[in-house]
Amino acid sequence: MEAKIIRSKRKTLALSVTREGEVVLRVPYGVSSTYVSRFLQVHAGWIEAQLNKVAQSPKLDLSDGAELVLFGSAYRVGTGRARIADEKIYLPAEGREGALTRLLKKFVLQVMSQATARIAETYGFAYSAVRVSSARGRWGSCNRSGVIAYTFRVAFLPPELCEYVIVHELAHTVVFNHSAEFREVVGAILPDWKRRRKALKEHFAMNFL
Ligand SMILES: [Zn+2]
Repeated sequence: MEAKIIRSKRKTLALSVTREGEVVLRVPYGVSSTYVSRFLQVHAGWIEAQLNKVAQSPKLDLSDGAELVLFGSAYRVGTGRARIADEKIYLPAEGREGALTRLLKKFVLQVMSQATARIAETYGFAYSAVRVSSARGRWGSCNRSGVIAYTFRVAFLPPELCEYVIVHELAHTVVFNHSAEFREVVGAILPDWKRRRKALKEHFAMNFL
């Protein structure tokens, strides 16, 4: 079993598999290497399951010439100062994932601010601000002050799913829960909201970056 062993001043062993597929075992000082290899053997099944999960989750190709689809539009990846211009996404030669994340946060704020304002105006919702988060567990949130936050990962959603996320959060400015009343507000705007919600739950973009 190939694992990266990190020894430190800790009390327990901690095993993890990174999203890059690296097995990492954190070990307290003083634990023998025999114990470490036995520990890895005992957890081999769990490690294998995690590695399978990593192998199956789709990866972003950020090499030059690769295509990235953001908000339903295709962009070609190229090398250069990080920016989005003329249907191209320029990323530096090194640290591409980090650069893309920073770029997307700005881009998503711009796109989602406009889209939220447009939908709010059309259907008469009032909110106080739009922000962008790095949340992985949820696409959006709306607090009691009417601040709506979207994870930058919404950039990878097709427009119709983005629209559902926006309508969902705007509906929270009127009904602050997921009651029948809330579903009525959403359903009045998007009669096919159930289909969109299902598609959103199955979308893999939450695993990117
Ligand atoms: Zn909600």
